Amino acid sequence: MADKKEIEELKEKLFNKKENGWNNTANKEDIFNYANGYIKFMNKAKTEREIVKQSKIIAESKGFIDIKDYDVLKPGDKVYYINREKSMYLAIIGNESVENGVNIIGAHADSPRLDLKPNPLYEDCELAYLKTHYYGGIKKYQWTTIPLSIHGVIVKANGEKVEINIGEDENDPIFTITDLLPHLAQDQMDKKLRNGINGEDLNLLVGSIPYEKDISEAVKLNVLNILNKKYGMKESDFVSSELELVPAMKCRSMGFDESMIAGYGQDDKICVYAELTSLVDMDIVPNKTAVCIISDKEEIGSMGNTGMESNVFEYFMSEILNKLNVNRPNLLDKVFCNSKMLSADVDAGFDPIYASVSDKINAGYIGEGISLNKYTGSRGKSGASDANAEFVAVVRNIFESNNVKYQVTELGKVDIGGGGTIAYILANKGIDVIDCGVPVLSMHSPYEVTSKFDLYEAYKGYTAFYKN
Ligand code: MN
Ligand code: MN
Repeated sequence: MADKKEIEELKEKLFNKKENGWNNTANKEDIFNYANGYIKFMNKAKTEREIVKQSKIIAESKGFIDIKDYDVLKPGDKVYYINREKSMYLAIIGNESVENGVNIIGAHADSPRLDLKPNPLYEDCELAYLKTHYYGGIKKYQWTTIPLSIHGVIVKANGEKVEINIGEDENDPIFTITDLLPHLAQDQMDKKLRNGINGEDLNLLVGSIPYEKDISEAVKLNVLNILNKKYGMKESDFVSSELELVPAMKCRSMGFDESMIAGYGQDDKICVYAELTSLVDMDIVPNKTAVCIISDKEEIGSMGNTGMESNVFEYFMSEILNKLNVNRPNLLDKVFCNSKMLSADVDAGFDPIYASVSDKINAGYIGEGISLNKYTGSRGKSGASDANAEFVAVVRNIFESNNVKYQVTELGKVDIGGGGTIAYILANKGIDVIDCGVPVLSMHSPYEVTSKFDLYEAYKGYTAFYKN
């Protein structure tokens, strides 16, 4: 019979050991410094338009140039393309022929939120409100009684565009959606949680002073008068606006040990930050052309001309082929069939308070590194892009040889629910794709939680993938 020591050694050798990432962190300072950069980024950008704007600033500071300003591309050139201020593609041209495929990482910049309706402003009992229509999968009750800010654009009929960002600066007012006091909420409290707050009741309280006494809709008029003075707008200009309500709470370091980050929209801005910085920090000309996608509309199905389902990404890739002077019929199909991709999207972190929804053996844990989801989907993997075992092995190998801590996980127990990402859209083009992102607690809530360790491993993992 083997002795205890031998058995321990055999276990050490054969078991796929799970371990808290913080146990072996010689570089805690690097992890914390990198997280500080992320927190700053998050506090400048809460919407897809703001993410694209900040990403452009970062990319340009690192030598990236709008692809339209290049006639001919060569290895080492750094380009970007911005699609309608909401999605963005970047690339560093590699040494190897693009025919052999490119390395792509793609994340999305949109997050669940409340959008204003096209005709939002009304007055009821001398209070002025803005009506909203929620965007993405939210638990509606979470969006009442929290400070909200308004971000976005108003485009007047003549094309003049006004950027709005109100509620983030300490001196700005904030806004909120009221909820019923518990004393009078007997009926509400008996409802199912999903029906506790109606979508049509998510109305933002925005004013209470009448313009003058003894006139009708005086509070609404006063609000419009303020907006007119500040932005030169009329009520009709709301119809051509995109105004998003997001939590007016800062992204912050969290926990006594400051090991975590709390903030709105970390799905999927945490992966945007990791992929973007891993690209722009590249200190070599990579062998394979490195491509970074910042997508829009993922939370509502990736449709429309800024979503991943559109052909704009193909257009960007074709422009690269054109400007490398290599393009010919069907070459892009070949490039895609030879390409590899990490779909950089967040994973559900295991929450001990809600342990029953997860398979503990296959769940993603915060603080245990970057999560690889071989597949997502629901029920019998319906709608899943199921990564090929050969490709999972390639990605594993990259991570293992670069000392990147990773976990291969599933989103919740079988038949409990499910989810999806942009992975299938790129996989449909022939690209080898796997979901690979940071585990999150309270996903899709106004205040999501992540681990600084996992963020740093994502940065390391994406860097290793691009350099491979
Ligand atoms: Mn996501
Ligand atoms: Mn999401």
